[in-house]
Amino acid sequence: MKVLISGASMAGLTAAYWFARLGHSVTVVERADGLRPGGAPIDVRGQALGTTERMGILAEINAQKIAVVAPMPVLDASGTQVATLDLSWFANETDHDVEITRDRLNQIVLNAIPNGVDFFFNSSIASIADQPGGVDVVFVDGRQGRYDLVVGADGLHSNVRKLVFGPEKDYVRHFGYYVALIDLPSHRDWQRAMLNIPGLTIAVRDTGDGPQAMMLAAKAELDYDHRNLDAQRKMIDDFLSQVSTWQMPELREAFADPTAKGFYFDSVSQTHMPSWIKGNVAVIGDAGHCAALLSGMGTTLAMVAAEALATTWTENDGNTLAASPIYHDRMRPYVEQCQAFAHEGGPIMVPPTQEALDTRNATFREYASKLAA
Ligand SMILES: Cc1cc2nc3c(=O)[nH]c(=O)nc-3n(C[C@H](O)[C@H](O)[C@H](O)COP(=O)(O)OP(=O)(O)OC[C@H]3O[C@@H](n4cnc5c(N)ncnc54)[C@H](O)[C@@H]3O)c2cc1C
Repeated sequence: MKVLISGASMAGLTAAYWFARLGHSVTVVERADGLRPGGAPIDVRGQALGTTERMGILAEINAQKIAVVAPMPVLDASGTQVATLDLSWFANETDHDVEITRDRLNQIVLNAIPNGVDFFFNSSIASIADQPGGVDVVFVDGRQGRYDLVVGADGLHSNVRKLVFGPEKDYVRHFGYYVALIDLPSHRDWQRAMLNIPGLTIAVRDTGDGPQAMMLAAKAELDYDHRNLDAQRKMIDDFLSQVSTWQMPELREAFADPTAKGFYFDSVSQTHMPSWIKGNVAVIGDAGHCAALLSGMGTTLAMVAAEALATTWTENDGNTLAASPIYHDRMRPYVEQCQAFAHEGGPIMVPPTQEALDTRNATFREYASKLAA
């Protein structure tokens, strides 16, 4: 049967693997001109370890995982060290959790996809008409196709969700933070550290593929164009301008550089949908059930949902109506569990007040001294 997947990232690539492996004819349409690079290291954990093992890629993921790096100084607004963050506190480098860069994981999944999957890069779906004979799709470049199933794996601001299920505001809930990432020029000697003021965290880290900066800012929802990168760079600079010590001037310059690699900016949000399937169209990954970056579960959920959808749909001979309740019963409890994790992450990563920051730093100090003992 013919399956069209919109989006070539964790959810889309994993879905392409599973639908192709299960014997379907698969096309992937991706708006970017290739796999979108960038992103901080992500976690493959929980049920995704089983999914990747069944895909035969867990060993490769383990081989390319990030080793726990040296403890990171935690700085106050003046740039003075006030605590140490031992990253094992987050990384959970146990048998149940593998941390790997997003680019490496994307490439591993891509390499595993069976031959014969068609990729349309630089394209997107313009319209979807779910008819009795199949789902008729027109692409923005004028191409057309008829599919048995269309899978929206096109992220938080999903195009498929908007076209079939309705506007973003009906499903996406702002979680109170914004995140920005950038690859830093490697000719400069960056201090690897995390600086906090209430409501703002800036960290510089090098996980093996070069230095990278991350900003997390607590902020109520802002109205901006998700495609306007200049507007996003201006918003990031407004957040960063609150601090002038440390290597902030250089970091502001790096984030403001339109030629810098690895630029990423988005709200930290969750997607909540009563149903992820409508007719013969499904949404998975951040499009359907984004758990928010602070949960550490986004990639895991995306991969698990991709396998569950492909296997359930195939076991039901491509009868989406029959597969739908089984798929929902399988995924709903796991999605709810993963989305709940996000509530813990925010106050730790971005304490909102000086008091909360001091308490968090005391916890870091206590953990570091326990490890040293
Ligand atoms: C560049 C980038 C950096 C990221 N960095 C981090 C990070 O540091 N930490 C973290 O926790 N999460 C990060 N994420 C999100 C993380 O990848 C997801 O939360 C998770 O892996 C679930 O993946 P997903 O495939 O559902 O969504 P995403 O990874 O967001 O992928 C969606 C894909 O759909 C494509 N797309 C969007 N619109 C269209 C369209 N109209 N037509 C066709 N394709 C479209 C996008 O280009 C993208 O390739 C990042 C995502 C991206 C794209």
